[in-house]
Amino acid sequence: MTLNPRLKDLAKDIFYYSGLSRMLLSFSCYRRHPKFLILTYHKVCPSSRSDGYLGIPEDVFEQHVKFIKDNFKTVSMQDGLKALYEGGSSDIYATINFDDGYMDNYLYAYPVLKKYKVPATVFLTTDFVGKAHIFWWDKVFMIIPSSDTNGIDKIQEAERINFSLRTKSEREIQAVIRKLEERFQPQGKIEPVLMLGWKEIKEMKANGIDFGAHTKTHRNLCMLNDDEALEELIGSKKEIEENICEEIKGFSYPFGIFDERVKGLVRKAGFEYARSTLKGFNHKNADRFLLTSIGGGALLKTSFLAARISIDSLKPDREIYR
Ligand SMILES: [Zn+2]
Repeated sequence: MTLNPRLKDLAKDIFYYSGLSRMLLSFSCYRRHPKFLILTYHKVCPSSRSDGYLGIPEDVFEQHVKFIKDNFKTVSMQDGLKALYEGGSSDIYATINFDDGYMDNYLYAYPVLKKYKVPATVFLTTDFVGKAHIFWWDKVFMIIPSSDTNGIDKIQEAERINFSLRTKSEREIQAVIRKLEERFQPQGKIEPVLMLGWKEIKEMKANGIDFGAHTKTHRNLCMLNDDEALEELIGSKKEIEENICEEIKGFSYPFGIFDERVKGLVRKAGFEYARSTLKGFNHKNADRFLLTSIGGGALLKTSFLAARISIDSLKPDREIYR
């Protein structure tokens, strides 16, 4: 039986506002081992603007942060992993991750994280630090016309195209973008987006935000040879270390894509853990180069986030899904 999407959303609201999700989370007190929840985000935008791609309005982000602060032990990545692998108490530990390194993380997410004292880690794409840059997936989104003018859902269409482009070469990606521009004739110039600079990164670092690497150029590592992939891995690691004067231990796979060879290269580059976009909680036997997460940015309403987390918290250990 498939449930009407509106009914599904209503069910999630009831689940949340009736307190059922909190009740399910409290059942988790019968667990015998710690669990580690990593919530991932990309962009946070002003509350008044909710039409962005991969973005979450700052008021919704604040509700998410408050929800995890109220329900879990909020920790840094390092402390979460320590609890997981070194026998921490059987609680749910939670942290927040940001990928790519957009300036809006500093403008809209950082004040909220500071307010609630919730640790987070930002995974930087180092070639674009301090620059105005447009990633190809953002460009695809900007080219596609608004949902109400073309009979297509702008976000769904961008997601469909971007998903297929993740495994294409740069040349093929640019060819698709040119075709989209010819088809949709976007009005006005597509402006690049500001990325975090070292000044903001150092300020955030001084106030409880950690940093990890997300390669130099955000290429799909599975499509690169060993030397090219190691250059992306070691190059990004070194650049952050030189700028913030601290060893960088964490890596996040661009597009969440990896294979056994890439996992080995991440280890060889000197990282101690890597996060994928496979979903679910991390358990004590989790592979530290295949950490799982839940995409908080895709679950706009707090009730949706709470439903997802509380259901996942009851799943058996090592059950991960795409
Ligand atoms: Zn990314």
